[in-house]
Amino acid sequence: MIISVLSGKGGTGKTTVAVNLAVSLAVKKEKILLLDADVEEPNAGLYLKPVVDESMPVTIPVPEIDEERCDYCGECADFCRFNALAVTEGVVITFPELCHACGGCTLVCPRQAIKEVDREIGTIEKGRAESIGFRQGRLHIGEPFAVPVTRALKRGLTDIEDSIVIIDSPAGVSCPVIEAVRGSDFALLVTEPTPFGRHDLRLALEMVDYLGIPRGVVINRAGDDNSIISELCREKNVPILLEIEFSSRLASLGSVGIPFCEALLYWRERFYEVYQSIKEKCLCAN
Ligand code: SF4
Ligand code: SF4
Repeated sequence: MIISVLSGKGGTGKTTVAVNLAVSLAVKKEKILLLDADVEEPNAGLYLKPVVDESMPVTIPVPEIDEERCDYCGECADFCRFNALAVTEGVVITFPELCHACGGCTLVCPRQAIKEVDREIGTIEKGRAESIGFRQGRLHIGEPFAVPVTRALKRGLTDIEDSIVIIDSPAGVSCPVIEAVRGSDFALLVTEPTPFGRHDLRLALEMVDYLGIPRGVVINRAGDDNSIISELCREKNVPILLEIEFSSRLASLGSVGIPFCEALLYWRERFYEVYQSIKEKCLCAN
């Protein structure tokens, strides 16, 4: 089973929920693999403190020009929608950081003067945090395209049948989020009871519904009145699976990198109940 944890906006506690879900299930002897797909800023490892034993580069193919063959016709630059190539008299300039690796320029070049070379844009790290399997993607600083790193991070996931995979997705509803969430069995959306939280939850729900993934909501930093979120959930027919009350005890555990399910039995059980609800909803969806 693949469970994605996501949120329409940053700072809602998405990683906190992903990590605590992983910890509570691991304690119950479930086999867990946690993927940190927030590749621009992976931070689940700050809580889990994994031992990383494997690191692999993620590359994309970008064009390299063979000046001997090129006649500077300009067809490659005309084709490229991303302005990653420019042709002036006697020179072809490439801008690899703008290249989306579509391969089109290689195909349209009439003189076969373009070959593709690998360009490293990030890494995938694999390891363990005690019984929890751990993987994270890391986009190199300054690189604009997170999707290839996320794709590489998720490679082979469908072959893992005996584990519960928890994906800590990036925040928002952009392409890297869709890439992270796509193919999940369940989407757990984390929000907070504020106008911004409600606005961005609505967007995230639209995205998840478009992808056709069963979903549920966690309200983080819940207070006495969470109607701003519960009304939207009613309207969208989405269940609220957990409310995490605002608490200085939870905040202080988080501030020193301790998942509160590690320290507090009460929360461990509540997160396990969330998983049981998810399992039921996935069974109903199939
Ligand atoms: S299309 Fe090929 S031959 Fe024409 S400018 Fe580009 S690399 Fe050179
Ligand atoms: S591979 Fe695609 S995006 Fe990259 S330079 Fe060629 S045409 Fe442009």
